[in-house]
Amino acid sequence: MIDARLDVIPGALAAKVLVVEDEAALAELLRYNLEAAGYTVLYAASGEDVEVLVAEEAPDLILLDWMLPETSGIEICRRLRARADTRHIPIIMLTARSEEADRIRGLSTGADDYVVKPFSLPELMARVRALLRRAAPERIAEVLSVGDIELDRAAHRVLRGKREVRLGPTEFRLLEYFMQSPGRVLSRGQILDGVWGRNAYVDERTVDVHIGRLRKALVRAKESDPIRTVRGAGYVFGERSA
Ligand code: CA
Repeated sequence: MIDARLDVIPGALAAKVLVVEDEAALAELLRYNLEAAGYTVLYAASGEDVEVLVAEEAPDLILLDWMLPETSGIEICRRLRARADTRHIPIIMLTARSEEADRIRGLSTGADDYVVKPFSLPELMARVRALLRRAAPERIAEVLSVGDIELDRAAHRVLRGKREVRLGPTEFRLLEYFMQSPGRVLSRGQILDGVWGRNAYVDERTVDVHIGRLRKALVRAKESDPIRTVRGAGYVFGERSA
């Protein structure tokens, strides 16, 4: 068990870590420790499942074993790096090989970091945290800030300028989700998956209802509306005003 320091604030949208490891005991150990640190953990035992999981769940970081049945970790890494929609995902390679040449080969296929088995868990967790901080700071930041709106995950508080904005739990998560991707068009489907989860029985009209409530809470008097509806596409949050 590693230190109890939480990387992710409870109740917040946790960063997702995909573990690709065929040794069940090691996979379980990783899952346990990552969950204890507050991450959402996805798991694949073989390379065949990786592409589907990556496409469906959009993990924030991948722990990728080198030696896997069928497709090797190196090959998976190469494939992920070759695609525009996955090349940005940070990858830490896990391997028993410790020779320098292999290390260089691992990094040259595009892995961001490299950990040799047996590794120390605190060290691995520190690397996960460091990579996420670099690659996806908005996923682990305590305070998100876009324009004059500030969301404090730890305190569960939202400010617009100096005014405190009171939000229900769903509107809070919705705002948090928007503030992780300012300026990006998000479809209702994406918002549903991101805020309610993939398996929720909620329809897209519900998204509109909660966005309506969020808008009402955020916008007072002459304040500008930070949420723009994009007809037929979805919503954009926090665009710079012209
Ligand atoms: Ca293995």
